[in-house]
Parts: sequence; C-alpha cells; structure tokens
Amino acid sequence: MDWMVISTWVFSFPGNRLAAQKLKAGCSAVEALQVLAASVEADPDVDNVGYAGFPNCEGEVELDAACMDGKTMKLGAVAAMKGYANPFEIAVRVMRESPPNLLMGIGAEEFAARMGYAETELLTESNQKEWMHRRQELDSANIRQGEAAFGHDTVGIVALDVNGDMAAGTSTSGLAMKMRGRVGDSPLAGSGFYVDNDVGGAVATGLGEDIMKGCLSFHAVELMRQGLSPQDAATSAVCRLHARLERMGKPVGNMAVICADRFGCHAAAANHGSFAYAAATAGLEPAIHTVDPCCG
Ligand code: ASP
Repeated sequence: MDWMVISTWVFSFPGNRLAAQKLKAGCSAVEALQVLAASVEADPDVDNVGYAGFPNCEGEVELDAACMDGKTMKLGAVAAMKGYANPFEIAVRVMRESPPNLLMGIGAEEFAARMGYAETELLTESNQKEWMHRRQELDSANIRQGEAAFGHDTVGIVALDVNGDMAAGTSTSGLAMKMRGRVGDSPLAGSGFYVDNDVGGAVATGLGEDIMKGCLSFHAVELMRQGLSPQDAATSAVCRLHARLERMGKPVGNMAVICADRFGCHAAAANHGSFAYAAATAGLEPAIHTVDPCCG
C-alpha cells in the first residue's frame, strides 16, 4: 500500500518531511502524526502551535490538540490546556489511556502530570512583550475581552500508512488574544478533524467559531463516503458552509480544509487566498501546494 501525509500551512513542511521518512520506513499513521506535530510544536518560530504559541487575553498560553485513529475510530483531545509543550502527545495518551475522549483545562493538566510529562513555560519573552502591547491597545480602546482576536493557525495532519491505516489530528494555540477558556474547532471531532479508514480523513484550519457551525471535517469525509473525489469533497464542504454563513449578512471567517481518501489521493479547499499545505506520498517528495480560493 502507498503511504501519504498532508499537513496544513508552510510551517509544517519540515515536520512533513520527517513524517514522510518515517512512513517510508513503515511506521504507523499515528506515529507519523506524532513526529510531525512534535516538530511544529517545538519550533519557536511558529507562534500558533505548542511552545511559543500566542497567549490569550490574560497572557496565558492555552493549547488545544487532538488525534483520531481511522482504524479503531478511537480519539483523544485536550483543550485549553496550560503548561505542557507537547499537547498532541498528550492527546494521543488520552486516546489510548483515558476513558473520556476530551479533557479540558485543569483536568487535562492533571492527566498530563499523571502521565509523567514535565510542566514548561510556554510564553516566550517576545510573545509576552507583544501581548503587553496588544493588551494596552485593547484597554485604551475599551474593547471587551475576547472581542478582538488577532491571528491564528493550526497544524492539521492526515496520514495513510503502508498497512492502509489512517489517522488525523491537530495542534494549535487557537486565536491570539482569545478569551480565557475559548476553545476552537481543533480539538472537536468532526469540526477540526475526522478520519475513517473506510473512506479517508480531513482536518480544518481557520476561524473555529465558523468552522464548527458546519462540522467541516466530518462533512468533507462524508462527501467522500458518498463518492465525491477529495477535491470535490473539500470544495463542496467549504463552499456550502461559506454560502450558508454569508446569508446571515456578517463577514465569514477564513477557513480551509485538507482531505485525503483511503488510497492517498489528497486535495484542499479554502475560502481565502493565503492557504497552502505540505504533502508527501510514496511517489512524490514533500512539496508545498498553494490553494486558490474556491469561494469568498
Ligand atoms: N481553527 C483554529 C481555532 O479556531 C485556528 C486556526 O486554525 O487558524 O482555534
């Protein structure tokens, strides 16, 4: 069976390369996700994921992550978790070792401590300075908590291994300057991620508040189940949700989905022009694919 790994945004490229090497050597889809997510989470230049993630409105770094195994349909997720630099790894432990699928806040932190992970300071000096600056701006403009969030991105990953097993997952610090306790789509099954070995998998990135209104990842997978190609499924899922939200007369948030079927054919769609993703397959070296807007 041919393997494949796709991951959101250009910053995932180095991790995609590492995951591709592992898949080539025969590792499982979940292991490929672990390698890729760990690489992005540890990168101090990526300020939307893991260590150096941008803080919430109170200056705290709260992280969300999730993993789903397409063979067993098991999933694990952590949300609004503080103090641990490798949330994806902890989500995998939730998937494998905890009765609940999703742990949040202090519950996720206690679970991580029980599993032996070390607490880490996630707020870098430069992010703290930037946070103070933005906080002053918000306070002087009298803008309420969480009403102005600046910038966001997620590493979302779908992999297919040589055994034909698939996995999908995400890791993010969510919206910069978000309200404390705000959780986006990324750790929510069906919204930020979904995978089923029988069909394929999908992950989303963009404004979580809008993505979850359409369960974007689940919708893309279900369209593939009905027989649509990955490209048609991604485009239809994004455009349907965009059009539905547009009817409400408010600006629609940026959103993008990447998906792959169980044969490793992959595609993406976005309602804005700045999205790109990394992809590697048994036949093709890791490369960046830019995506033209399909609507919006
Ligand atoms: N979907 C993420 C969230 O809303 C952010 C992103 O992917 O840009 O938290």
